[in-house]
Amino acid sequence: MASAQESDHLDPLKDLRSRFTLPDGLIYLDGNSLGVLPTGLGDRMSEVIERQWGERLVRGWNDAGWIDLSSHVAGKIAALVGTGANCVAVGDSTSINIFKVLSAALSLRPSRRVILSDKNNFPTDLYVADGLTRLIGQGYELKLATAETMTDALDDSVAAVLLTEVDYRTGERYDMKAMTRHIHDKGALAIWDLCHSAGAFPVHLDAAGADFAIGCGYKYLNGGPGAPAFLYVAQRHLEDITPALSGWMGHDAPFAFTTDYRPAEGIGRMKVGTPPILSLSALNIALDAFDGVDMSLLRRKSQELCDRFIFEVEHRCPELELVTPRDRARRGSQVSFRHPEGYAIMQALIANGVIGDFRAPDILRFGMTPLYLRHIDILAAAEILERVMQGRLWDREEYRARAKVT
Ligand SMILES: *Cc1c(COP(=O)(O)O)cnc(C)c1O
Repeated sequence: MASAQESDHLDPLKDLRSRFTLPDGLIYLDGNSLGVLPTGLGDRMSEVIERQWGERLVRGWNDAGWIDLSSHVAGKIAALVGTGANCVAVGDSTSINIFKVLSAALSLRPSRRVILSDKNNFPTDLYVADGLTRLIGQGYELKLATAETMTDALDDSVAAVLLTEVDYRTGERYDMKAMTRHIHDKGALAIWDLCHSAGAFPVHLDAAGADFAIGCGYKYLNGGPGAPAFLYVAQRHLEDITPALSGWMGHDAPFAFTTDYRPAEGIGRMKVGTPPILSLSALNIALDAFDGVDMSLLRRKSQELCDRFIFEVEHRCPELELVTPRDRARRGSQVSFRHPEGYAIMQALIANGVIGDFRAPDILRFGMTPLYLRHIDILAAAEILERVMQGRLWDREEYRARAKVT
């Protein structure tokens, strides 16, 4: 492996770091939880607030283009996930979008009663799916399998399969295309959660044949805390779904104020209520950081950063057990290790200037965000982790006290 300095020197993406504002003296390996602040976003947001909201007031819906902002942002996200703007709607949270696409999927397979998911899926995906089956009743149920048993669990009772492409704990990645093919072979629909994919590596929703997808605006897309999420509906389904959350912004003519609901044409029907223009503006600005970025180079750099971190940590900290697949093709853009004192270790690491996060029960998670991380950051993080482990710096009461957000 080339030295960290050498790799940074040769990095074709090295100039992208200046598109972000990173606090001094901090190594941030948590962009998979909350992305960093894009440079200049504050100034551009002041303009939205002072000029647009402050001066244009309600006229801003038309003359500042607020009413079309979510479609504009959808176009930028569509380019990152391998589809067109006509298949992506931006707004609401990922959790709510899961409800929207799941209910749409079930309506397309009315004779089937099962939602199938992965028992290691992110909890909100499972909770929302479970809640939806309880709301509908009529024998609907959520069934769970693991990555190993998923294809066996697929039978002709399954209406939709809800999977997160990259496991939020281990970083293990499903083969989206192959799994979608299995799902279709059994007559079911494939819903992909891209929370740990969009903006982390190239995604090809159309080419994979996905039916629906959802994803998050505040992780690898850097849209800011609680940024609007997105959803995808394959073109072939667009005219066949009637949204369960039939809000006025998804109406064919919201300002006709008619009594009856008539869905908008195409993806517009997946919108629900008035869009949050301030947070949508921040996401819109943040996405400019992807302008002209070759996503295959981003993927390659992410893999190199992951390889380097695995190599350095395994040599320096043998007591940490790697849980992320070594095979590049089988992982996303994060590296996770297991240790019974994982929580305290992460707190000590944060106190020493390296931010990652902890996921129960025992996972130390490190997100690799190639837009702004350098190889020297990865090396330095591994050195600090080594110090924390060798000196047992984590072994303090204060590091065991759990905060509300981990
Ligand atoms: C982060 C994440 C979510 C978050 O959902 P919110 O509605 O934004 O809280 C959902 N699913 C997965 C897989 C995630 O990683």
